[in-house]
Amino acid sequence: MGLQLFVPTFRVDECLQEIKECLEKGWTGLGFKTVQFEEEWKKYTGLPNAHFLNSATAGLHIAIKVLKMKNGWGDLDEIISTPLTFISTNHAISYENLKVVFADIDNSLCISPEDIEKKITDKTKAVLYVGIGGNTGEYTRVVELCKKHGLKLILDAAHMAGTRLNGEIPGKEADVVVYSFQAVKNLPTADSGMICFKDFENDELCRKLTWLGINKDTYSRTSSKGAYKWKYDVEHLGYKYHGNSIMAAIGLVQLKYLDQDNSYRRQLSVWYDKNFANWSNKIKPVMVSEGCESSRHLYIIEVNNRDELLLALNESEIYPGVHYRDNTEYEMYLYANGTCPRTHYLSGRILSLPLHLQMTKKDVDYISDKIINYSK
Ligand SMILES: *Cc1c(COP(=O)(O)O)cnc(C)c1O
Repeated sequence: MGLQLFVPTFRVDECLQEIKECLEKGWTGLGFKTVQFEEEWKKYTGLPNAHFLNSATAGLHIAIKVLKMKNGWGDLDEIISTPLTFISTNHAISYENLKVVFADIDNSLCISPEDIEKKITDKTKAVLYVGIGGNTGEYTRVVELCKKHGLKLILDAAHMAGTRLNGEIPGKEADVVVYSFQAVKNLPTADSGMICFKDFENDELCRKLTWLGINKDTYSRTSSKGAYKWKYDVEHLGYKYHGNSIMAAIGLVQLKYLDQDNSYRRQLSVWYDKNFANWSNKIKPVMVSEGCESSRHLYIIEVNNRDELLLALNESEIYPGVHYRDNTEYEMYLYANGTCPRTHYLSGRILSLPLHLQMTKKDVDYISDKIINYSK
């Protein structure tokens, strides 16, 4: 097997017990466990609304769509986003015919407030922020900046399940926060996500849009009485984006262990940090920002010979990853190539090291030794 980048850990018996409840009740779809998971997620995060979805990609799309509808944005209005992210982030903007304007990153690998400010035009409507690897970067300054310029703020928290900033789960300041519970994220299910709007009206609209635009879901129809349950209306051209009870069943179990799991991820990261402390001339770990207790979805280092190092590590059966390729190098977003030089530079130098709950200190030491040997 070697040392893989990501290996999810499931509490198998507990997950099976929760899934069994769904099967015995004969309810695997929207409602039942999805409602329970939404309630538990609101309690955990302190966010006022939560709607369970089949992915964060769906969530990001709906986030943009709802804000566009509610705020009367037009096609080709602009959203400022980061080029160093999974492509879902930026596709979400493009799905709604808005223009992705890329701002450069800073040393945290998150989008830089200075560059956001430079890229604001009279068409700018929002900023999409990604907490890379669970790090909050300059999030607080971006919140301020959005307030100052009257911009909406969307937080792609796909990596941030469990991240705290100054002791609190960040997100209350954003107009909408989207989490991913995809198979290799910190709270793995198989595929699912959560969307948390600040405003209740947006949450309401979102629930219709994730269920084909239908104004009443099957679960509330089943639990309500009366002969006219079938007579719902379809108000919008919606999508099939909502989550199901099997995924929620797994999520409910995983949530119980999220903080404990993240704290072990931080422990692994501390071991890496210590091993690299004397090698700062050739190995630079990306630092967690001040006040941030990171979920540590990723442990990223910056090196001079990334591609060569990656191949050498593969020879030793160590399989790191790269998060991410500069999105402006993709054909879809080539129009922005050259607008974010720091992203371009760092994207060629970063490496995400294996980080998961089945690793031991011995694994960290083994990987660290190889990296120290092969890096230049
Ligand atoms: C994984 C990921 C997504 C998409 O999540 P899915 O649940 O797989 O759709 C979005 N943004 C970032 C930064 C991600 O890492």
